[in-house]
Amino acid sequence: MKVTQADIVISAVKPEQYPAENFPEFALAGRSNVGKSSFINKMINRKSLARTSSKPGKTQTLNFYIINESIHFVDVPGYGFAKVSKKEREAWGKMIETYLTHREQLKAVLLIVDLRHPPSNDDVMMYDFLKHYDIPVIVIATKADKIPKGKWEKHVKVVKETLQLQPEDQIITFSSETGQGKDKAWGALQRFM
Ligand code: GDP
Repeated sequence: MKVTQADIVISAVKPEQYPAENFPEFALAGRSNVGKSSFINKMINRKSLARTSSKPGKTQTLNFYIINESIHFVDVPGYGFAKVSKKEREAWGKMIETYLTHREQLKAVLLIVDLRHPPSNDDVMMYDFLKHYDIPVIVIATKADKIPKGKWEKHVKVVKETLQLQPEDQIITFSSETGQGKDKAWGALQRFM
């Protein structure tokens, strides 16, 4: 996929603010600091359109990006920050749940995990939630450049087993540093367009 255009459309907190277009839409979920913004930027060949290293406490919004005037990416705020208050966590949960369970344009969720470590309990919960609602998942195991290639397969196996990844869901080894997996990731998305 050759990306010729990419822009942020809106930071939304409620459905009335979601873009009205019927473009195929892909949401990106993952715990904070996993490399979600870096993944988006790599996929669209931009250094910093998606903000990297998002800090806890910043406004929790669904950030909609438009790509090639025909696809939406939706950056879902990262989960797993211990410091977030119960109230904030609840608000986050409600916003995400509303989006994931009602958005008709949503084709699949890209669940971003760190290839180096087994998925966290929050990752497992997110995967189970998506499966419960029959939402297709593409697992992006990122930061692959941080471990030797010879160990990738072993780590992929741990990710698959921890998530209990279903046969219909794909896992892609990725690196925002090297671009490893980028074409494969676009290929995986294209199947839903
Ligand atoms: P986010 O909070 O999930 O959006 O995470 P960021 O994209 O801000 O990344 C968190 C940190 O991990 C940053 O310091 C990135 O430079 C680094 N990072 C993200 N992806 C990769 C990757 O594929 N390889 C390496 N080596 N570092 C990465």
